Formats: sequence, structure tokens, C-alpha cells
Amino acid sequence: MGALELALVKEAFATNWIAPLGPHVDGFERELAAYVGVPHAAALSSGTAALHLALRLVGLQRGDEVLCSTFTFSASANPIAYEGATPVFIDSENTSWNMDPGLLAEELDSCAALGRLPRAVIVVDLYGQSADYAPILDACAKYAVPVIQDSAEALGATYRGAAVGQQGHFAVFSFNGNKIITTSGGGMLVAKDAALIERARFLATQARDPAPHYQHSAIGFNYRMSNVLAGIGRGQLSVLPQRIAARRTNFQSYRAALGDVPGISFMPIRPDSEPNYWLTCIMIDPEKFGASREDVRLALEAHHIESRPLWKPLHLQPVFASSRVRGGALSEGLFERGLCLPSGSSLSPDDLNRICALILETPRSLAAPDL
Ligand SMILES: *Cc1c(COP(=O)(O)O)cnc(C)c1O
Repeated sequence: MGALELALVKEAFATNWIAPLGPHVDGFERELAAYVGVPHAAALSSGTAALHLALRLVGLQRGDEVLCSTFTFSASANPIAYEGATPVFIDSENTSWNMDPGLLAEELDSCAALGRLPRAVIVVDLYGQSADYAPILDACAKYAVPVIQDSAEALGATYRGAAVGQQGHFAVFSFNGNKIITTSGGGMLVAKDAALIERARFLATQARDPAPHYQHSAIGFNYRMSNVLAGIGRGQLSVLPQRIAARRTNFQSYRAALGDVPGISFMPIRPDSEPNYWLTCIMIDPEKFGASREDVRLALEAHHIESRPLWKPLHLQPVFASSRVRGGALSEGLFERGLCLPSGSSLSPDDLNRICALILETPRSLAAPDL
């Protein structure tokens, strides 16, 4: 937390706005929308809730299909299943690890040939980096399929000079505890269309029709953000530039120490986009480096340092075993060899040096284990 958050939470207490809705909710929506450069935003209880409402707003029906990145967290696709619809997974490309626009276009052509277009495409901006939206939007515009951006990890990133979140019909952000800024839990749905965001707010507050009594003509959800958490979000938004700078420093320090090591490579960064550097991710080639991803992860863990394999592709997850996938080999390779390094905003230069030294020592410590 920064310095401002507690003051804003105190203000919520002082004015007794301890409710979903209130001045901080309105303020957080306004300020986030302005930051992203999209006119309308709805503050919600989570990024998952925001994705769920976006799918409701595109008219998702039971039995529909939704195309989705396979290389992502399960929350990207779970809301498709909430509605009794089916995810169809699309593999990544090698320049950003995000959805491959060529595979997406092939899948859309094949869906169109079968006369069964998907209701939407969920494009994930993974590890803080934008997907390649120009060809993705072209492919979707050809068949008028709406694009939902899962930008949960990418607040503050840009694509061709424009903030991530401006590209699709909807974009979703998360303020879960592990994201670059947090409200402990929370999310935001943004869109250009005021009526859609108004509808999202309506559905998120139990779909209460305008009447003095409780009147309902639709099934609603309890998905609104509380005024207390929105106060934290406003404070966090004000320190987002510092958080991005800290995470960029992590990335640069890791690259300076490990960038020239045979067998270690970094997540590729597209020349036309600027990530928020949420997590620093590396790939380890065991033949060239002399130790595998798992060897390195366990060596760090032995020193109480947490690191994690990259996302396991959703088409390999037991729960989505019956779903179709187009491609798949690229994300499978990323999962096999990739590692997310410690990437918190408060890592010190000493921490970073210690982590890098342990990584560099791993091949030697395998050859001559400490007794
Ligand atoms: C965190 C995350 C979500 C879900 O956000 P919550 O606020 O935790 O519900 C969705 N997609 C991706 C890619 C995420 O990293």
C-alpha cells in the first residue's frame, strides 16, 4: 500500500459509506476510465465477475462457443462454463506469448464455414503484455464477433501507443492481491458504450428494476465493489506509475544478470508494445543451461524463495479436457520450460542479486550437491 490508501479508507469510515456503491466507487470508475482512455467503467467484486458480465452483455447463450487464449489462468475461461457455453482454445504466438492472430483467423473461418460462429473472443494480455490487436480485431470484424480483453494482468501496458483496454468491445481488469495494484479483491469492466456499462451495473446489483419495492425482471448478481475497497483502489491507482517502474527495474536487473547466459531466454517483448512488467518470466533450455526449469525452481524453494512454472495451458487442464484447441504446441513448450521469477514491487537490489546467484549456481550444485 502507498500513503494515500489509508486516508481514503478513513474518509469512507468518516462519512459512513461502508456499502457497495458510494463516492469512492464513482471516483474509482471515473479515474480508472480516464487512465485507460475509455469513457465508461463499472467497479466490480473481481476480474472474474467482470468477465462473466461481459459474456452476459454479448448475449452468451447455453450451448454457444467462445474462443479464448489457451495460455492463461483458468479464470479467463471459467465464466464461459458458468453460462453453459463451451470454450474453444487458441494457441499463442512467439512474439508476445499471447493469442496467435493467424490461428484465430483460421478458427473463425472454419467456424463460419460450419455456420456456427462463436459468441465472442476472449483475448488475454498475459504477464502484463498486450496481445497483437490489429490483426485480431480484423479477423473478428470480418464476422462481427465481439472482442473481450482479459487485461487482468496488464493495467498500465500499451499497444501501439494506446493503453491496453481501449482495443476491444470490453476490457476487464483485476485488483486481486497478486496483481500490479490491488484492492485486496476487485475488478473493473470498461467499454466505450455507456448503455452496456449501465447494464453491467444493473446486473451487478441484483438486477433491481426502478420501483419503490423490490422488483426484478432479470436474474442478477451481487458483483459490485464496496466503497471501502474502491477507496483503496483510488490510492493504488495513484501509485501505479511507481509500481510499473519498480517492476521494470526487476526485469532489467534479471536481464542484466541472466540475459547472456546460454540456455536462458526472456519473455519476448513486442517492439510496438510496452508491458507493465507485472512478472518477469524466463525460459530454461536444460541442455544448454545444465539444469531444468524444475531444478531451478526447487533450488530457489530450498532457500525459501517462491517461483512458479508458467501457466499450464487450459487445453491441458482436466476440467477443459473435452474442449477443442487450435494449435497448442507453443504454449505446451512454454509450460514445460518457463519460470515466473519473484517479481514483487518491493524487491531490493540485494534480493535480486541473491536470486540471480542461486539460479546461476544451480547447474553446479546439481553436479556437486551440498552435503
Ligand atoms: C487474475 C486474473 C483473472 C481473474 O481476476 P480476479 O480478480 O482474481 O477474479 C482473470 N484472468 C487473468 C489472466 C488473471 O490473471
